[in-house]
Amino acid sequence: MIVVPESAIPALIDRGAAFDAVEGVFAAMSRREAYNFPVIREDIGYADALYGFKSGFDRAGLTLGLKSGGYWPGNEAKGLTNHQSTVFLFDPDTGRLKAVVGGNYLTALRTAAASAVSIAHLAREDAKVLGMVGAGHQSAFQMRAAAEQRDFERIVGWNRNPARLETLAKAAAEIGLPFEAVDLDELGAQADVVITITSSFEPILKSHQIKPGTHIACMGTDTKGKQEVEAELVARATAFTDEIAQSTSIGECQHAVAGNLIGASDIVELGAVINKDHPGRSSQDEVTLFDGTGVGLQDLAVAGAVVELARAAGTAVETDL
Ligand code: NAD
Repeated sequence: MIVVPESAIPALIDRGAAFDAVEGVFAAMSRREAYNFPVIREDIGYADALYGFKSGFDRAGLTLGLKSGGYWPGNEAKGLTNHQSTVFLFDPDTGRLKAVVGGNYLTALRTAAASAVSIAHLAREDAKVLGMVGAGHQSAFQMRAAAEQRDFERIVGWNRNPARLETLAKAAAEIGLPFEAVDLDELGAQADVVITITSSFEPILKSHQIKPGTHIACMGTDTKGKQEVEAELVARATAFTDEIAQSTSIGECQHAVAGNLIGASDIVELGAVINKDHPGRSSQDEVTLFDGTGVGLQDLAVAGAVVELARAAGTAVETDL
């Protein structure tokens, strides 16, 4: 069995490898070669923690396993990250434990890779302005991965607490792009690609704020009740997602579906676009929206890549169970 500790992971896997792993598994999901098992998420009644499992099997990549973890709100006071997770990979031929991989950094990397894959396949080729809504832990990961997908000239950003945009401004400077804090009207008027990455339970962006041709990646909504954009905007856009069952139940599309503005059959798997079974964007004026709900197979895909990279680098820690 191989152990890849959290501290070793940033040096092993880069954004390009995460992009390839996530794009590959979305494609395999759409070919029905990979599927996610039902998600378990429980309020354990201790330490205010939410704990659960996301798992699945990719027959194409032969990746079997689970991500176990959750949210411990008291961690920050202990100097730890509130979100904690670990990935366990099993040998699909024998069921033996194959690897244990730290899941915290990988979660941010694979979530950013998902929106980057959506931008690569759905945004207008001539997109010049990237708009960021949200400035929490995930946001800089999102921004860096997105910035590599088009020839962006500038980034505009909005956050409920504008002071936190400083982190994004710093990351933008490192990428070499100008960054401006704006209000939501200005953000929608300027941005050709928008990423929303917040914990909001209310729509932040309204349909009238989004100009024709925009690609929006809604990445924050991963739970029943959360919402980042108006349901009318989801209905106006062509909606794409990682997994339709999650999109209609816990993703951004849940509200448009509950309000009968769209049905599940209106939502397209991003994997179908990757596999060229769906044309993706059909016109320069079309608004495309990616509902990135976050699936266990994404975690397994990047963890599998990390194990191979650790082996190749000779840094894999082998141990018997
Ligand atoms: P964080 O706690 O570090 O930051 C939260 C962000 O949401 C901040 O920018 C905050 O200002 C904003 N926010 C919270 N409530 C808001 C409201 N009512 N209106 C406007 N903005 C609001 O969280 P994070 O780690 O950056 O994660 C952001 C979200 O992404 C979380 O909801 C998390 O569950 C989700 N997430 C999704 C995936 C996925 O695969 N889709 C993966 C990881 C995290």
